Amino acid sequence: MSPDLVVHSARQLLSLASPEGPRRGPAMGELSLITDGAVGIQGDRIVLVGNNQEAIAAAGSGSRLIDASGKVVMPGFVDPHTHVVFAGDRASEFEMRLQGASYMEILAAGGGIMDTVRATREASLGEIVNQSRKRLDRMLAHGTTTVEAKTGYGLDTESELKMLDAIRLLDESHPIDLVPTFLGAHAIPVEHKGRVDEYVNLVVEEMMPALEPAGYLDHQPPLFCDVFCEEGAFSVGQSRRILQKAKDLGMRLKIHADEFNSLGGTALAVELGAISADHLACTPEKEIRLLADSNTVGVLLPGTPFGLAEDHYAPARKMIDMGVAVALATDLNPGTCYCESMPFILALACRHMGMTPAEAIVASTINAAHAVGLGHEVGSVEVGKKADLLILDIPDYRHLSYRFGTSLVQTVIKAGRVVS
Ligand SMILES: [Zn+2]
Repeated sequence: MSPDLVVHSARQLLSLASPEGPRRGPAMGELSLITDGAVGIQGDRIVLVGNNQEAIAAAGSGSRLIDASGKVVMPGFVDPHTHVVFAGDRASEFEMRLQGASYMEILAAGGGIMDTVRATREASLGEIVNQSRKRLDRMLAHGTTTVEAKTGYGLDTESELKMLDAIRLLDESHPIDLVPTFLGAHAIPVEHKGRVDEYVNLVVEEMMPALEPAGYLDHQPPLFCDVFCEEGAFSVGQSRRILQKAKDLGMRLKIHADEFNSLGGTALAVELGAISADHLACTPEKEIRLLADSNTVGVLLPGTPFGLAEDHYAPARKMIDMGVAVALATDLNPGTCYCESMPFILALACRHMGMTPAEAIVASTINAAHAVGLGHEVGSVEVGKKADLLILDIPDYRHLSYRFGTSLVQTVIKAGRVVS
């Protein structure tokens, strides 16, 4: 049977075929590039990856052809760490920060994330879905086809479940696939201020047991659980308690570690077999070594220091050289990084973290797919995988990090359909 759709004549087809799992070390700089490349799609799946002659031979009279002459074709971006679902915005806090207030000072004063918690608690499910959908539309237009989405602006059982409902509704109704993460331990809500252990009890004894009757633990692949392990948020001991409970419930683990202070969150992630440890801006060398020797992916978020106008970028160069499987994400959130664009994150990664353009592409596609447990399904152009493809109007993949501030994505194909 001939393919429904054939994308042909790509000057560079970046296949990123990685049957061995996430790429590390020198392999992070390899794109498995095919010149004069072509991709055949049947339904929502890739059925052919090769050169032009093979594609033309396979195409039938019913096949739709898309000419990618002079262009770059690559897998859709996977954004493996976002807080895309929320209500309201924090434009006024942005202005306060520009005038000198720090993120932790704003948080200690009851502002910052608490503003978003208030707005998200007050908003109806429909309002949250509608506001978040616009962000997903922009993400799709910038080439993102799979998004991890966290809760964590509810911080009570009812509102956290409302956020999971919003993520599910968006996944069902938007072309982007959303991967849900429960982040009940994102911050300590005002009603538990100064009583963190009491809030951890609520997370472990009320919120997490409510996930199963609400149908969130039947989800395939299983729901992720994340914790913000940081001074002013949750200690390593509290994080361990929450993540261990999640593990007992069959959830997969993620952690916000070492964003501002090194508490030992990365070592905890490795010890518990977390799928990823995220931020890692000030991870000590001995914990980088633990990460390199583990299956935990290091998800780096250079948009956050940029968004805060600070310079605590994660040491990506050192991590890659030491063998960590590095991924990149936007960290899209209304406080520290309101950024919907993965290409902009690639541009930052090359300038502020010493990554090469090829490493940045690997980190935002196949390695990012592994960071959300979908390495078998998306993140590379391989036969059998979901047909999530981008056509970029650039002559060479390096333009993707070299140029910034405008979208170079010409066409987005999601699950075999042209969607943007
Ligand atoms: Zn985050």
